[in-house]
Amino acid sequence: MVQSGFGTDETESKPAPDTEAFIDALVKAGANSFCQWAWKGAKRVWNEDFGAPGYRPTPQNEKRKKAFKEIIKMAHNKGIKWVIVYAIWNNFPDWPGLEKFWQEQSLYPLISNFGGYIYCPKKPFADWYIATLRKTIEELDIDGVYLDSSPDPRICTNLHHGCGYIDENGNLHGTYPVFATREFHKRIYFLFHGEVKKGGLIYAHNSHFPFMKVMMTSQ
Ligand SMILES: [Zn+2]
Repeated sequence: MVQSGFGTDETESKPAPDTEAFIDALVKAGANSFCQWAWKGAKRVWNEDFGAPGYRPTPQNEKRKKAFKEIIKMAHNKGIKWVIVYAIWNNFPDWPGLEKFWQEQSLYPLISNFGGYIYCPKKPFADWYIATLRKTIEELDIDGVYLDSSPDPRICTNLHHGCGYIDENGNLHGTYPVFATREFHKRIYFLFHGEVKKGGLIYAHNSHFPFMKVMMTSQ
């Protein structure tokens, strides 16, 4: 069976016809979890905004949401314990409600990334992310998230975040928001371990910093 993940049918509003067979094959193969990646395309069930923790409010996304919820319920009923989603990286200048505020959420200097900008883990972004992810959990019943190297603190120079500093010669320097990154990830963890869900699954993938050692020896 060739299938890159869960999708919708031709009407783009219901699970694809082979969804049940796909889940059955996963269970038969011994899988107990499944990660829905982010991708673009008409038949996707997850969002079209790369790395967003929820759905942009559109009529089509209401249909996708309904289809994905149905798929997750089916997967749970058949023995898949964790259905998780790819959900980290960007904030979006044209996200409804964020148009005037997105600049407060981005790393500085700005890093453009798949239709958005890479986030700074300080409060403005973290609060929006946690609230949006919480809504997704409540609406879809997802069991976790795939975090793509997000525990890696990245340098930021935005003084309004509390990042960066100006030296004695008046030059701006960046700092690494290590503790904000830690607090942000603790909040994500808690959503799936007590606050909304219990016993969730958070896969904190990484490929380019010292956590690699932890991942390699714990897999
Ligand atoms: Zn910052």
